[in-house]
Amino acid sequence: MEIVVSGIRPTGNLHLGNYFGALKNFISMQNEHDCYFFIADYHSLTTHPTPQDLHGNVKQVLVEYLAAGLDPEKATLYIQSDVPETAELYLFLNMNAYIGELERCTSFKDKIRQQPQNVNAGLLTYPTLMAADIIIHKATKVPVGKDQEQHLEMTRQFANRFNRLYNVDYFPEPQAYNFGKSLVRIPGLLGSGKMGKSEGEGNAIFLADEPAAIRKKVMRAVTDSGPTTPNQEKPEPIQNLFQLMSVVSSKDTVDHFNDLYNNCQIRYGDMKKQLAEDMIHFTTPFRERIKELLNDEAYISKVARMGKEKARASAAKTIKEVREIIGFKSF
Ligand code: ATP
Ligand code: MG
Repeated sequence: MEIVVSGIRPTGNLHLGNYFGALKNFISMQNEHDCYFFIADYHSLTTHPTPQDLHGNVKQVLVEYLAAGLDPEKATLYIQSDVPETAELYLFLNMNAYIGELERCTSFKDKIRQQPQNVNAGLLTYPTLMAADIIIHKATKVPVGKDQEQHLEMTRQFANRFNRLYNVDYFPEPQAYNFGKSLVRIPGLLGSGKMGKSEGEGNAIFLADEPAAIRKKVMRAVTDSGPTTPNQEKPEPIQNLFQLMSVVSSKDTVDHFNDLYNNCQIRYGDMKKQLAEDMIHFTTPFRERIKELLNDEAYISKVARMGKEKARASAAKTIKEVREIIGFKSF
């Protein structure tokens, strides 16, 4: 049995990228493994949310986890800040993380571009907090999207460095995981880049989106003037539309539009209409469960309490052992 750990930041509603990159694997892994899935609210502080937004977003993401099919009886479902042991391990790991390697991290460079007015130390040390989240439960498998590959590599680096420094074989090497052949990267609707909560208005389709919102976003997706020679290679925005279609539509539908493209007969308007309807068909059950669950305050707090208890027990055991390894001893 593997120990599985992964989380999603409560910086907005969950979108199809989060679902296919992470959540879908969470749901299948919970049946066989010892799973810890959390809502990364410490991580979301890098963008300075207000207290109201923070609390509301945590609730929303917890509900969306449940609506997507996570079972709190099978997996440990918890809120990162309910387990302050994580922050202590983050402190320890930061003592052996080097400025150079943190600055070279692609996601840090992206964030400098996205929020040049707020390049805080939390952004720089994002990978050490993520490593702490993962190794606090001594995880072996981490279901994440392709964008997290580099962070996972750094997590292994920090875990191995700890082992070497203290001459122990304590933390296992966590591996990124996806059920398919490789890690997933779902594209956004704006032509380039991945689907993301902070990748710009209209780029993401959320599980909670109403049909009208989905139609509007899909119809505005970036395309081009169409192919002019048969079997022409697809430029990135068109490739993206096809990739999105391949996750929500049937194979016949994808093949149909692919043939039209290859014969230079494709009308992107028709393709988008079909894509929007298939996305609506896919997201509707999620949206309906999200609405129901949002009103069930008693259930939400019960789930959060259960998760906190289980996650803390596991984290406290690790921190106790780590403190002994480092040399903190009580008198
Ligand atoms: P933000 O824009 O705030 O970074 P995000 O939408 O990228 O938010 P994260 O909380 O950073 O979401 O990521 C949560 C999980 O979802 C991670 O495992 C990440 O790899 C996965 N994920 C996010 N976007 C995609 C995507 N477009 N394709 C595949 N997986 C994704
Ligand atoms: Mg992200």
